[in-house]
Amino acid sequence: MIESDNLELKGVIKCPGCGKGKVYAYNDAKGHTSVRCHKCNKTIMVDNETLSALIIPPMRHNEKKKPS
Ligand SMILES: [Zn+2]
Repeated sequence: MIESDNLELKGVIKCPGCGKGKVYAYNDAKGHTSVRCHKCNKTIMVDNETLSALIIPPMRHNEKKKPS
């Protein structure tokens, strides 16, 4: 079980769509995370390294990636 007390907050990333939604990045977070903003319902990609975010199109989980 994860104890939130053990996690140190690295930064708070504001939603680039509405500027109101917040994503919390913790110090052990790495890479990118996609989250749905609970304010504007947009899907945003969060970079946990640089604490930046950008809006991405909604994920289509059932769609297989085409070989490139
Ligand atoms: Zn938002």
